[in-house]
Amino acid sequence: MPVSDLFHKFDTQIFQVSQTIWCVRRPSYLTCSYLVKTDQGVVLIDAGMDSKGQDMLAGLAYISEPVSSVKALLLTHWHNDHAAGAQYLQQKYQIPVYYHPQETPYLTRQTARQGLRGRVSLGLPEWGPFVLAKGLLGEAIPDAVEANVFANEGDQIFNQFEILHTPGHTPGHLAFYYPAEKALFAGDALAVIGQKLRFMARPVTPDLPQARTSILHALDREILLICPGHRKPLHTDVPDQCQQMLHQIQAGEKWPFFG
Ligand SMILES: [Zn+2]
Ligand SMILES: [Zn+2]
Repeated sequence: MPVSDLFHKFDTQIFQVSQTIWCVRRPSYLTCSYLVKTDQGVVLIDAGMDSKGQDMLAGLAYISEPVSSVKALLLTHWHNDHAAGAQYLQQKYQIPVYYHPQETPYLTRQTARQGLRGRVSLGLPEWGPFVLAKGLLGEAIPDAVEANVFANEGDQIFNQFEILHTPGHTPGHLAFYYPAEKALFAGDALAVIGQKLRFMARPVTPDLPQARTSILHALDREILLICPGHRKPLHTDVPDQCQQMLHQIQAGEKWPFFG
């Protein structure tokens, strides 16, 4: 086994979230990607932080599912800590990739920086916060991925996932509602810190008015579990916490700087 594989073996954390949902994350940055076992196969929510798909492959091994059982990879948004493994998983295993059309320029590298910034971005190590920085500095993910399917507001995927367009953090950000478990995969539209539902920090929310509307939209359904893009899922008092956040937005409270 190559040393890099060994590194990932110990670096990737996998834990069960609910009956059909598992979370995959790296302690070095705590970006959460998810595996969902549906009656039509496994659906991946985000692609992990490893450009060779090792996080998601480790997750599949953990739940004893072959790669061939994966029916789709749904991307919440283009940031590299969520999308790093997408190209590899699509090319190597023919996993269909779904994302919102407005993320296309970043995911296909039309926006990619050339010159020094581009070179520095590609030269950063694939570790911890650098995984996000590679994308932000280069204004695109390093390994371009074309959508097999564009996912738009209101679409249903396999009759299992409702697509919610939730811009604010990025223009084509998506959240996914999974009625089977009343779960919301929120990506970076919401944060969870210590079993508390929180706003994302203001500096990482370029469009606050859109972000407010997106939260109102995403929370407008029965939710018992929130699977965010970072740290860990929220199980505690979810309906109450959602209500509280909705009230804050409806009351026009200022968006907290630290989220
Ligand atoms: Zn992000
Ligand atoms: Zn993120």
